[in-house]
Amino acid sequence: MFETTLNAIRVAYSGERAKRHIANISQHHRIQASPGYRAAAAYVQAQLDNAGLITEMLSYPADHQTTFWTMESFQEWACARATLDLLQGEQAVDRLCDFEAVPMSIIQRSAAAQGDYEVVVLKDGTEHAHYDGLDVAGKLVLTDGDLGRVYDLAVRRRGAAGILFDGMATTAPGRGPLDLPDARQYTSFWWGADEPRCFGFVLTPRQGRRLRQNLPVRVRAQVVSAFYDGAFEVVAAFIPGQSDEEVLVVSHLCHPQPSANDNASGAAATIEIAATLQRLIDDGTLPPPRRGIRFLWMPEMTGTYAYLANSEDRLARTVAAVNLDMVGQNQERCHSVFNIEQPPEAMASFAPVLMKRLWDMLNGDTGGHGTFELSSASVRHAVTSFSGGSDHYILSDPTVGVPTPMLIQWPDRFYHTSEDTLDKVDPDMLARIGGLAAAYAYVIAGADQRTATWLGHEIVARRQCRLVWRTQAAITSALGAEDATALSRLRDGLRAAVDHRIDCDMTALQSLERLWPDCGELVAELSAELHEAARRELSRAEHVFRNRARSLGSDDLSSPAVQPPPGGPFDSLIPQRQYRGPVALRSLEEGDDPASRDALWQASRLAGNQWWTARSLAEYWADGQRNVGEIIDKVYQETGYRFDTEITSYFEILEANDLIRWRAGEE
Ligand SMILES: [Zn+2]
Repeated sequence: MFETTLNAIRVAYSGERAKRHIANISQHHRIQASPGYRAAAAYVQAQLDNAGLITEMLSYPADHQTTFWTMESFQEWACARATLDLLQGEQAVDRLCDFEAVPMSIIQRSAAAQGDYEVVVLKDGTEHAHYDGLDVAGKLVLTDGDLGRVYDLAVRRRGAAGILFDGMATTAPGRGPLDLPDARQYTSFWWGADEPRCFGFVLTPRQGRRLRQNLPVRVRAQVVSAFYDGAFEVVAAFIPGQSDEEVLVVSHLCHPQPSANDNASGAAATIEIAATLQRLIDDGTLPPPRRGIRFLWMPEMTGTYAYLANSEDRLARTVAAVNLDMVGQNQERCHSVFNIEQPPEAMASFAPVLMKRLWDMLNGDTGGHGTFELSSASVRHAVTSFSGGSDHYILSDPTVGVPTPMLIQWPDRFYHTSEDTLDKVDPDMLARIGGLAAAYAYVIAGADQRTATWLGHEIVARRQCRLVWRTQAAITSALGAEDATALSRLRDGLRAAVDHRIDCDMTALQSLERLWPDCGELVAELSAELHEAARRELSRAEHVFRNRARSLGSDDLSSPAVQPPPGGPFDSLIPQRQYRGPVALRSLEEGDDPASRDALWQASRLAGNQWWTARSLAEYWADGQRNVGEIIDKVYQETGYRFDTEITSYFEILEANDLIRWRAGEE
């Protein structure tokens, strides 16, 4: 199926043209709500106008009054120049930071400043104890710790004048602590209405080390910047369909100059998708689609909240979306892997299955039938489970209801640093991933009964594979088990996992209704197929469990009773979400109450890197029917981790902020 479509897109989509868009976009300093972002948005719209698309420049207030769902807007910011000089006596002897040369050398959204300052080195500064015996008032603190937390403890609570940041986040396996000694990390303030503003600079790790070794240090700082009520833009382009349904292709246009791969690449690839499809439709190579295809370029998260909150009537008619985030990397230089990140399991659907299949088809991977096709093997790629962190995390929330896979190359050695530059971009990867997203959007836009039937079988085939492998993992462990207790735990674990899988598979099959409303019979047939496969796999495993138990001298697998984990006080309470879309945490982080800011920090500490994912998944599973205990179980099945305390305390924080209400469940 789709050979003509895929071939036409492969021929017409140009990775070189997309790379040229990156070159242009990456010249703009694209801070969310700023003149630089606006200039980039104008560039994008001009390209789309040239390509003959219907375009719109949507504008949303950047101020402290407007709220989009739970996201509070923020003021526009402009910076003319900023410098930081090292002082010897009263004399400036070294220019450490210069905004005009390297825009990432300041903390974005720094307030205006002018003066000479003493520098105090913090032991990262994220805990109260780090300030024992230190007087930071009126001084600059040097830290490589979490910026928001250091701002709260050093500036907001202890009166420091500003922050010097010399951190460089590591990403295993892409970037180790010593890999980028001369890069600057992308670092930003986000101001709430009542927060005292300050300024800050970003040093390279090498500069930071030199300062730390040469204390005491004094510096001269100048920042010429301004905040004002302004606007931020979302560029929209549209290829109309014959129905009022639509498919969405999104990418974020923001980030500091240059941020070539993150995310000038996604924005550029999306321009080329829109232009390519429009051209192929105009010249008659492809028929006009049944559903419309809408393209959006916006500031990450903030623009998506704003657009969705103002387009609620469109959500139910939006059948699926794709998010392009960092798609241009040269894999060797950036140490990248191309990932198709699936939407969360609470939003299981046909979408990731279609994406993976189209990738295989476009790259000549025939699924084991062809021995001579190696083109997809020359690219590192994977299908990964949901982790969030970009616009798909808002769209894929079941309260929004648009299944959205993300296309991303991850890790990336140069991610969020001044070294994310055009020379790290590979037109071949742009063509592969951009072509994939174009095919995905066009296939969904045209999907009918035949496509839905095919996708239904794809879902069943892939889900059966998963079931078989999950069962096989349990069998492998069972044959290594040394006592009956371990065996019965394995069996319970397998049963719970299969129940969860079947639950998600049913949701995925039911999503076919979006493409073909009369798919009831097909869904019934295929779900019977999956239930039968689950039964077969469980009995295959049961056989092994029993034999192993017998050889361990036990006949009764259920005898050593396994205690269920102790229920927390909230386990039987049912959280009722009071908002649409995931909670925008910024409003909580900026709250007036220092104790609740500390509580949020502690909750995020507990889950570490997984905080974002864990708390998003918990919200997605909170459907108004499940209690906290069941939500914790669901997140465990989805991730393999139990976040008992983290999820419980997260819901407590949400309740304290009126973002959920408790309903008592039946015992
Ligand atoms: Zn980013």
